[in-house]
Amino acid sequence: MNKPCIFCEISAGRMDADIVYSDDDIVAFKDIHPRAPVHLLVIPREHIPSHQDMLESHSTLFGRMHWVAKQLAEEYGVAESGYRTIFNCGRDGGQEVWHIHLHLLGGRPLAWPP
Ligand code: IMP
Repeated sequence: MNKPCIFCEISAGRMDADIVYSDDDIVAFKDIHPRAPVHLLVIPREHIPSHQDMLESHSTLFGRMHWVAKQLAEEYGVAESGYRTIFNCGRDGGQEVWHIHLHLLGGRPLAWPP
């Protein structure tokens, strides 16, 4: 039997997470293994496996995910110092969880390239 998607489980409230934002379409929560003092994940409730599975009809949803990230950056005090938003996509992109998620990282200087 296929294992349930952990981010669908979090979105449905069947798995614990430190939720920082929630609406009808989007949930955001703290990353369980934070790579920066602020490390949040913004996900759609809809199960979209990766950035490469985005349809044109998802454009508004993806834009709203960035809007939520912007609000959270303010709420978590990194808007002024700066932060990074990332979609890891596929094997070379370092994607581990196959339910699309926008990383919001901040609170320390972030090296570039990663
Ligand atoms: P990816 O490498 O872009 O797929 O990132 C997946 C992220 O999900 C990693 O930063 C993990 O630490 C995070 N993660 C995995 N499982 C959980 C969980 O149950 N709660 C919160 N974050 C998780």
